[in-house]
Amino acid sequence: MKERYRTRKIHVGRVAVGGDAPISVQSMTFSNTRNVEATVEQIKRLHFAGCDIVRVAVPDMEDALALEEIVKRVDLPVVADIHFNYKLALEAAKWVDCIRFNPGNIGEKSRIKEIVKACKERNIPIRVGVNAGSLEKEFEQRYGATAEGMVASAEYNIKFLEDLDFSDIKVSLKASDVERTVEAYRMLRPKNDYPFHLGVTEAGTLFHATVKSAIGLGTLLLDGIGDTMRVSITGELEKEIEVARAILRDSGREKKGVNIVSCPTCGRIEADLVSAVEEVERRTAHIKAPLNLSVMGCVVNAIGEAKHADVAIAFGKGNGLIMVKGEIVAKLPEDELVERFVKEVELMAENMEV
Ligand code: SF4
Repeated sequence: MKERYRTRKIHVGRVAVGGDAPISVQSMTFSNTRNVEATVEQIKRLHFAGCDIVRVAVPDMEDALALEEIVKRVDLPVVADIHFNYKLALEAAKWVDCIRFNPGNIGEKSRIKEIVKACKERNIPIRVGVNAGSLEKEFEQRYGATAEGMVASAEYNIKFLEDLDFSDIKVSLKASDVERTVEAYRMLRPKNDYPFHLGVTEAGTLFHATVKSAIGLGTLLLDGIGDTMRVSITGELEKEIEVARAILRDSGREKKGVNIVSCPTCGRIEADLVSAVEEVERRTAHIKAPLNLSVMGCVVNAIGEAKHADVAIAFGKGNGLIMVKGEIVAKLPEDELVERFVKEVELMAENMEV
């Protein structure tokens, strides 16, 4: 696997982003931010699901004024998402851990200077968040909504901040399709060492967003690109975190949690494998140790898979084998296999340092 690009390290609250910090997972609330109860409830749900950083939209002053109360009541670092109105950024900067805004859509330089000053005073970073759907006019006209246009916009906005002697920056380059997204991040990566926030924007509902994000973010992660990421799924909170963690794990960038290999089933099967895999998935979801598990329908491939698995089951006719590190440790009736398997997994997890 390619080495991860060594970016500079910044901090969003207590979460380090970039450098040798683990790749963090972000999400965004969909409540009206001014509705403090609903927003706090959503942030707590995200926290419980394993989110590292949360972003909230700040379209109005009422939303900005609600931030003081919200950040007091949650334990996740909060990013304020601001467009157009610099006064919202100034209010938000008093409370949050990062501001996402683009200098290019704020207007007069004196206003941007004020935001940068406010961020410097509190030592909080700015995310330059380029979105292919809202490029500045000059880049849209010159390049269209292309990867080149996105990169030009990012460079312009980064320079804007650098000229104000501000470099506490992370960058995102989001498009709604995988190809432009990947192209833009790849194009910009060698040009600076700011940490990158990865995402395919407006990716759609659970199925489509999962596929697009797995391809797009997975490709970039395998390239060694990415320091923090969000999987955007229409109307989902916990699922965003679950999918993001799975992408991190399956791209080999996060060594945490179980990886379950299960056979696709075929005519040789003589057991209820589907129920068994579902039960294994449910009962091992809490495990943080990086374990490889294998659940196979017959011995044809089970022995080979078991050699690479920490704990494995090979179902047979009315019974099956439990294997630990490739060695058979038990032959049991079918209805006792999952119970024993989960016990072996839990035991191994307990003995491992996470
Ligand atoms: S492991 Fe056995 S049951 Fe499962 S797909 Fe392979 S041959 Fe079929």
